[in-house]
Amino acid sequence: MLKTKGKGVTLRRGDKGFDAAVQGTSFNARDSGRRPDIVVQANDTGDVIAAVNQAREHGLKVTMCSGGHSWAQNHIRDGGLLIDMSRVRSIEVNSVKQTATIGPGCHSGDLNAELAKQGLFFPVAHAYTVGMGGFLLQGGFGWNSRVMGLGCENLLGIDVVLANGSLVHASASENADIFWAARGAGPGFFGVVVRYHLKLHARPKFIGLKLQVFRQKHLEDVFSWADRIGPQVSPKVEFQMVFNHRCMGTFSDGIEVYAPVLADSWKEAREAVDFINKSPVRSKASFTFPLVPLSLDFMMKSGEKTLFWPGVRWYADNMWLDGPIDPLLPALRRIADTQPPHPSHVLWLNWNPPPQREDMAFSVETRTYLALYTAVRKQSDEAKYANWATENMRALSEHSHGIQLADENLALRLAKFMSATNLARLDKIRTQRDPQGLFHAWMGRPDQAPANPTAS
Ligand SMILES: Cc1cc2nc3c(=O)[nH]c(=O)nc-3n(C[C@H](O)[C@H](O)[C@H](O)COP(=O)(O)OP(=O)(O)OC[C@H]3O[C@@H](n4cnc5c(N)ncnc54)[C@H](O)[C@@H]3O)c2cc1C
Repeated sequence: MLKTKGKGVTLRRGDKGFDAAVQGTSFNARDSGRRPDIVVQANDTGDVIAAVNQAREHGLKVTMCSGGHSWAQNHIRDGGLLIDMSRVRSIEVNSVKQTATIGPGCHSGDLNAELAKQGLFFPVAHAYTVGMGGFLLQGGFGWNSRVMGLGCENLLGIDVVLANGSLVHASASENADIFWAARGAGPGFFGVVVRYHLKLHARPKFIGLKLQVFRQKHLEDVFSWADRIGPQVSPKVEFQMVFNHRCMGTFSDGIEVYAPVLADSWKEAREAVDFINKSPVRSKASFTFPLVPLSLDFMMKSGEKTLFWPGVRWYADNMWLDGPIDPLLPALRRIADTQPPHPSHVLWLNWNPPPQREDMAFSVETRTYLALYTAVRKQSDEAKYANWATENMRALSEHSHGIQLADENLALRLAKFMSATNLARLDKIRTQRDPQGLFHAWMGRPDQAPANPTAS
């Protein structure tokens, strides 16, 4: 788990504590076997500038991490220098201007807790310990993002250390090329962000959850209904379904239908989740829980406790879907029937994005999102389950419109994560800002020939 206590140090391969320092950066307990030459646990911007200069002068490639929640452990590469930003996690809120400045190592839950005290809100990630550093760069599907926009759309600016060691501010009016890239490049960003400047919102007055649970045998009926009703569901509701071996209430295989709602009043929230009470599949549900007010803090922590366990080896993969549900049903059935043991799970999310977003690197999204999360708890299960997510996504690739970098798996399966136009524009900016290629980019990209000929 994250070693964020105490002052950061610099460690080299072979030093006592080196392995723990590298593996300790990652939420995922998987050991890829990859190791950098040097890890720098940065305490401040000065440490970052010194580390970038050192890497450039010694010909070392650089990666960086903040909260360490990259499923693919993108920041852990062979050789080079890893800058661990997890200790840089300050939060400064200006409640009058409704802005905040945070360090990249700041956890989503800590930011939310600080803002809740002041009646303010930011669309942070859904699990408490997700680092804001990586979350904001890859887009950021946050709480209430269907209303307030992606996390990165609520960025006012960033302070970033570039390959030449300079510290620059980037915003819509200053170094706009860097700002454009920072909103969606994710692991392909070419600099170390040391501060994020955020636009805040008034906190929704009602936050709560409605939940319904179905036995797995109803999968086809439930998915057909969800797919049909999805576009009509209020953006204030994060309508999603989770296949789970230990469903709430039944403690067995099934489908949890979640409707978290963030609204301006109890009445508005009740109306927004009423589609569940009126659904034609309602009578098949094992349970329908009433709408209950819950703190976001509670939902973030309990989601992480039930589904996103630390200390296990995770493999994730995902895709955006846009077509009719019927051709997908046999594959969804197969996925549900072969799902590895708890806390492995499958997420189906009703996304339905707005027709237009700001011009930024983030550019791939569709109506629905499907993500598979495999948790391998025993070493002996590794061979059995490690490819489950990748293989099932590969089997569905003809229906896919690309992937979300949040749950990327590019080292194992190449897929489109940005429009071709935006990828070309990003490449051009990177060449200008990081001409020597100091910073690593994604572990795979869509225009790369797959190492494995079946990769898609
Ligand atoms: C349990 C869990 C729940 C999640 N929930 C959500 C969710 O609700 N919504 C969502 O959109 N995503 C979610 N994700 C995905 C998550 O947002 C991404 O993996 C994100 O990259 C994590 O950020 P991090 O700082 O914790 O990760 P890290 O592993 O530290 O960073 C990921 C990558 O971002 C880049 N990066 C990180 N920090 C910096 C920096 N300071 N400067 C430059 N580049 C940097 C690096 O390339 C790094 O490899 C979740 C992931 C997990 C494991």
